[in-house]
Amino acid sequence: MQETVEPITPESFSDQARRLPLPETVDTKSLRWPYLLGVVGFHLAALLALSPALFRWSSVLACCVGIYVFGTLGVNLCYHRLLTHRGFKCSRQLEHFFAILGVCCLQDTPAHWVAVHRMHHQHSDEQPDPHSPLVNFLWGHMAWLWTENSKLNRLSMFEAYVKDLLRDRFYVWLERNFTWISINLLQWGFFFIIGAITGWCATGHTGEAMRAGASMLVWGVFARTVIVWHITWSVNSVTHMWGYRSYETQESSRNNWIVALLSNGEGWHNNHHAQPRAASHGHQWWEFDVTFQTIRLLSALGLARDIVLPVAPANATVPVAADPAQPL
Ligand SMILES: [Zn+2]
Ligand SMILES: [Zn+2]
Repeated sequence: MQETVEPITPESFSDQARRLPLPETVDTKSLRWPYLLGVVGFHLAALLALSPALFRWSSVLACCVGIYVFGTLGVNLCYHRLLTHRGFKCSRQLEHFFAILGVCCLQDTPAHWVAVHRMHHQHSDEQPDPHSPLVNFLWGHMAWLWTENSKLNRLSMFEAYVKDLLRDRFYVWLERNFTWISINLLQWGFFFIIGAITGWCATGHTGEAMRAGASMLVWGVFARTVIVWHITWSVNSVTHMWGYRSYETQESSRNNWIVALLSNGEGWHNNHHAQPRAASHGHQWWEFDVTFQTIRLLSALGLARDIVLPVAPANATVPVAADPAQPL
């Protein structure tokens, strides 16, 4: 039986009572096994970080720094604010470097990530939204990733949402022959070797070098990847459910300070939906946004330009752009 969808009004979101059916194009009987096995496998591998034999402070440090380097620079700054919304400009070389950092977060290719996110902005908290938590929290957080949704077919999605991005052959190259997976495997080797060299230099023993390499791999790649996943996923799930609204936007987005702190600024999500192109997601002086401060630093160093700033005051009603062919 077809579930009735309530009309969307700003008031719909004031009581968090609105619920959505799954997108019509989802087939819950069909799973995307590589994604499911990848998510489960990485969570199991990340649990190895709890082993005392693999604990090293240097590895913990690599994990913490990696959350910023790969998560904040790669996903927040590049995938989201630069590639999806074109909130600022930088040189092509620097853009590609940041995109490689994003690839190392194992959140799919830049073209795929940007297409899904532009689709989210176009249909936010309406039935075609690929990951609205108004279906249920688990769906919006992670279950959408491994459930078949014909709307997320790569070719049709690329045609509809990221033709601009794929004019750059670099992003086409990342799509071909699982290049982005190979880059991820390369970082496994890089982190292991760095750890092993550190262990060898400290002790001169081969066994300790191997254990230190394994420790760096587990903390620096597996644990860091899982932590960054949940931070990104919380922006999709938590900030469409809990928090305050500064703008009466046409979806359920919210500003959530806990997610904003953990994600280095992405949690000011109601601000972001109100003004998607603005490179700054914090619109009040106390809405601290590490990602935007990084963009400002890049600008001061002459590495970023044409930064899009928020324009409307808080509590304004701002229409959300919905042309999928344009950066939102
Ligand atoms: Zn959103
Ligand atoms: Zn966005």
